[in-house]
Amino acid sequence: MRVVVLGAGFGGLELTTRLSEELGDDVEVVLVDRADGFVFGFSKLDVMFGRTTADAVFHPYRDVVKPGVRVVQAEVTAIDPAARRVETSAGPFDADVLVVALGADLDPAATPGLVEGGHEFYTQEGAFALRDVLADFDGGRVIVGVTSVPFKCPPAPSETALLVHDLLTTRGLRDASAVTLVMPLPVPIPPSPAASEALLAAFAERGITFVPGQAVRALDPARKVAVLADDSELPYDLFLGIPKHVAPPVVVAAAGMCVDGWIPVDPYTLETSFPGVYAVGDVTSVGTPKAGVFAEGQAAVVADAIIARHRSADAATYDGHGVCYVEFGAGQVGEIDVTFLPGQPPVGMLGGPSAAITADKAAFGASRIRRWFAREWTNY
Ligand SMILES: Cc1cc2nc3c(=O)[nH]c(=O)nc-3n(C[C@H](O)[C@H](O)[C@H](O)COP(=O)(O)OP(=O)(O)OC[C@H]3O[C@@H](n4cnc5c(N)ncnc54)[C@H](O)[C@@H]3O)c2cc1C
Repeated sequence: MRVVVLGAGFGGLELTTRLSEELGDDVEVVLVDRADGFVFGFSKLDVMFGRTTADAVFHPYRDVVKPGVRVVQAEVTAIDPAARRVETSAGPFDADVLVVALGADLDPAATPGLVEGGHEFYTQEGAFALRDVLADFDGGRVIVGVTSVPFKCPPAPSETALLVHDLLTTRGLRDASAVTLVMPLPVPIPPSPAASEALLAAFAERGITFVPGQAVRALDPARKVAVLADDSELPYDLFLGIPKHVAPPVVVAAAGMCVDGWIPVDPYTLETSFPGVYAVGDVTSVGTPKAGVFAEGQAAVVADAIIARHRSADAATYDGHGVCYVEFGAGQVGEIDVTFLPGQPPVGMLGGPSAAITADKAAFGASRIRRWFAREWTNY
């Protein structure tokens, strides 16, 4: 059996690792990604706020050396889900099982004025470039603004507002500054009332203004104002944006794969409408948030299905469960334990924030790097 996995992010790496651990050379796994290495989403914030360096958070794919697995650095240029065939810059691949784990792309140009007048911290380049911008910032009005839904890692904008507060405080600039968080959601994390309450309390304690129920529609760089969905305006000196999210163009162009912009899948098996073709993670509309922990959980279910198919056994189904870490600043991290089941409202329980959970988050990252890349890593 040949399994072709498109995308070596959270989902693709977990899937590949599980298949190799269980089946080794019995199955041929081809893992395709255009990049030469992996960076955790949360590492973007760590680099941006000067806690670590870009080199320290980069994990090269050349370290993914596993029985049965071939890593191909190439651009995926076309997907034919009906034929389970893909075209890449390294040639075509035919698959018995095809898994699309290409994540969500970002489109900063979709928000007028964002590229010219603001910054975004969701791409690797954007977040890493902000390290110097933040270090050189002299204080003033900072807006952390979400431009549309859905967006990856729903806690990340709140985390960023809290970390901006910490940075400005450490640099003695907080009294001369204002921090505002603008979001199209009614509360910071709708599936978890406890986490939302804790974040709102943290904003209030720190004097961070929370503007709910509004997206940032545009920036006017000449006047340095952010224009919100209701046409009201907020002046800024530094704008930190969450750009519009879209499925990668090669997925959008694949005949019959996307509905309303994302790949629909069976919420229990992650199979698409094409037999033998699965999709996991941010590229799907499965109903869980776009976050690495959910991509990983979905990859585990697809790996189980492939292993079961190889062994002619039964496979487990997806339970929509995940534990998300949330930075509260001042070295404190909380965790939201949440389950998304079809047709049921999700309820997330909050643990912490505490220094112990900060250590758990570091251990979480280190354990993935050990499994996926067979190397030791301490993020900070
Ligand atoms: C600031 C920030 C903080 C975050 N913090 C957290 C957190 O604390 N916890 C958490 O769980 N999640 C967090 N996330 C979200 C997390 O990073 C993503 O949800 C997760 O990486 C999604 O996994 P994925 O496998 O679906 O896609 P990705 O990890 O995005 O992987 C997709 C891969 O596909 C490749 N690709 C795309 N198109 C092509 C193509 N045409 N050809 C070849 N390769 C291609 C890309 O290079 C990429 O490697 C954060 C995100 C951000 C931006």
